[in-house]
Amino acid sequence: MERDLKIALAEYAPGAEVIRGKFPNTYIYQSVGVYDRYNANPHYHPSGALIECADCQSIMLVDNIEDAPDQCAECGSFLVMALPYVRPPGFTVDCALPNGGGELYERGGRERSGYTIPPRLLVGETSFTTGKPQVPFAPSLYVRVRRGKLFTCNKGPNPDFPGFIICPVCGRALDPDNPGSHRYPASVPPFSGRNIGPRAGDWCSNTTDFRNQVILGHQFVSEVILLGVDLPATMDAPLQQPSGRAAWYSFGVLVANAAAIILQIDPGELKVGVRAVRRGLDHRLHGEVFLYDDGPGGAGYARAIEQNMQVILEKALELGEQCANPDCGGACYHCMFDYRNQALHPLLDRALGAALLRFVLRCQEPSLSSAHMSRSAIPLAEYARTSWQTLPGRVVGDQYFPCILRDQQGLEVGIWVIHPLQARPTGDERQAFLMKHGLRCAVHTTFDLERRPFWVLNHLVTL
Ligand SMILES: [Zn+2]
Ligand SMILES: [Zn+2]
Ligand SMILES: [Zn+2]
Repeated sequence: MERDLKIALAEYAPGAEVIRGKFPNTYIYQSVGVYDRYNANPHYHPSGALIECADCQSIMLVDNIEDAPDQCAECGSFLVMALPYVRPPGFTVDCALPNGGGELYERGGRERSGYTIPPRLLVGETSFTTGKPQVPFAPSLYVRVRRGKLFTCNKGPNPDFPGFIICPVCGRALDPDNPGSHRYPASVPPFSGRNIGPRAGDWCSNTTDFRNQVILGHQFVSEVILLGVDLPATMDAPLQQPSGRAAWYSFGVLVANAAAIILQIDPGELKVGVRAVRRGLDHRLHGEVFLYDDGPGGAGYARAIEQNMQVILEKALELGEQCANPDCGGACYHCMFDYRNQALHPLLDRALGAALLRFVLRCQEPSLSSAHMSRSAIPLAEYARTSWQTLPGRVVGDQYFPCILRDQQGLEVGIWVIHPLQARPTGDERQAFLMKHGLRCAVHTTFDLERRPFWVLNHLVTL
């Protein structure tokens, strides 16, 4: 049932088209609202509010929007947004229309209405606060198995206007541009007798309250295994940056794939998520990976993973270090891609996941050869050519710059290439370098240089 609701949030959200066969024809219907067919006195006011941090994507739930905190519990940011949500008991078509509005379906596509955001784990106990380091084989890895609250939702088709306007009385989704009086989309129980409820097509008594803007959400509980990696000061993987997210997700997907092999389970049953965790005195934001099983009832894979942690990590490293596809460009369908993790494809990077696993298992910190730095800087140099003069790489101080850009005024910017898991030189350090050597430094990771050189060019010295 809960599994069904997760799917329904995307498939049947108001506005979505649904295809149904009624022998011998196929019809296409449109969902027009939420509906509780077993409740004689339903209401569709919010069940609570989702509190979401724009900086670290941490989430919390509150019962009442008045209780919404003004600060993120994980990172302290004030950029938090409260979104009231309704847990939809069901959905309905417009039952007053002939055949429920169903039209003969010929062929072609169908409209969607938003999409389901993958379940996220609510802020709470972390692997660092309540878990155990995996000594002796992985002393920097903290692991904790517990029951976790997860939340999934559909924010509707318009990102600038999250949610749906749902009539709190009848459940019909109203046009946000033109809400007004409307009719019941479906009959309310009891369906017969003396106290028969309002019928589909009856005018709704609500003629004034059109402000019930809600997302459609669902909270569920699952056993999760939390994996946190304690990075030393020389390493970093900021969750605010795509390269940092790439490190945590790639690590998580490799571990999940390895667990599926070792425990001989369908990889589709293990889900991977990453949430923010604040680390150390300087409050660096890192990722905490969580894995949970998506099978009905929960099969207890989290504990099995914990009990087989060493052999799973070794397998994950093996998966990260090789791919059967000779043309694998970082990640592919032979190694990490799966149709179920499509949204993560831009972030998945086998070598990056393997680098984090090598630190976890071998205490080996990542480093870059000059050749690798030069290779990474090639696309940027190509794009920069139209507005910059590109000078060959050189060593300045004790830092190798594979590419140096000079603008028309003669200002030079050196491209300082780092591994995505290496600590970023601070603004003060870059300033000191400029004072000492007269060269501005643009610090960028191999991940950004290889995957999005245009973005790097547009953000040369802001990082
Ligand atoms: Zn936050
Ligand atoms: Zn209504
Ligand atoms: Zn591959």
